[in-house]
Amino acid sequence: MHAQNKPRTALVTGGSRGIGAATAIMLARDGFDIWLNYRSNHQKASVVKDSIEILGRKCQLLPFDVADPEAAFLALEPVLEKETPFAVINNAGYAADKLMLTMDYHDDWRKVLDVHLDGFFLVTKLALEKMLRKRSGRIVNIVSTAGQSGMPGQTNYAAAKSGLIGATKSLAQEMGKRNILVNAVAPGFIETDMTTDLPWKEMLPRVPLNRIGQPEEVAGAVSFLCSDKASYITGQVIAVNGGIYM
Ligand code: NDP
Repeated sequence: MHAQNKPRTALVTGGSRGIGAATAIMLARDGFDIWLNYRSNHQKASVVKDSIEILGRKCQLLPFDVADPEAAFLALEPVLEKETPFAVINNAGYAADKLMLTMDYHDDWRKVLDVHLDGFFLVTKLALEKMLRKRSGRIVNIVSTAGQSGMPGQTNYAAAKSGLIGATKSLAQEMGKRNILVNAVAPGFIETDMTTDLPWKEMLPRVPLNRIGQPEEVAGAVSFLCSDKASYITGQVIAVNGGIYM
């Protein structure tokens, strides 16, 4: 898809399952080599790595907690020494849904903000320092409909995703002159491990397309934003939500 000889590299966080795995595989199909981050699920990450290598692309596994500054530095610094990624996909995520009155500060509030906001900050900052020198690149942050419209039971998660939308637009303005494009993709209800416990029967009638989305449908938007076709798009939030929020 991109018009150049040397394969570009994309770093995908949370790439062992769900939307991250589908994104990593689609970007490999687009011609990217992949740095695949995950937290601990080595078995699933290895399956994704195999799928990428069957496509003829390289895949390096980078297990670390994106919210841990030291772990992020130790994992990323050696690979960034050798190579600069063209794209960073901040996808790693975690939800701890409950009404705010029953939320625990550390386990429900802090942890959710940390993985989405600190994870974005730590990973992006390390990569950006190298990307700046190339004067080209893409950052794609996976946010959520919850961060646009709010969602009962997700005060923590919606706060994190709204924060990430603000960060996306701010960084897009800071990086525009350096030709680093920063966008967000906001999925609605997507069929992954994160959503297995949702009350689907109640939720689907609210979705104009009347079905749950698939991880590949989110990956398609990320693939587009990382392609040469998206060269004049920055600071945007692209919704992949079946129309549930317009
Ligand atoms: P899954 O639960 O299927 O996968 C989560 C991924 O994130 C796994 O690869 C997991 O690694 C990784 N991960 C979790 N915490 C960390 C961490 N601290 N450090 C590194 N990796 C971590 O999630 P989805 O695919 O559903 O979600 C992906 C993104 O999309 C998230 O940001 C989520 O908020 C967002 N989203 C999802 C929606 C949905 O309906 N599914 C809707 C809107 C947004 P491991 O396998 O090792 O645990």
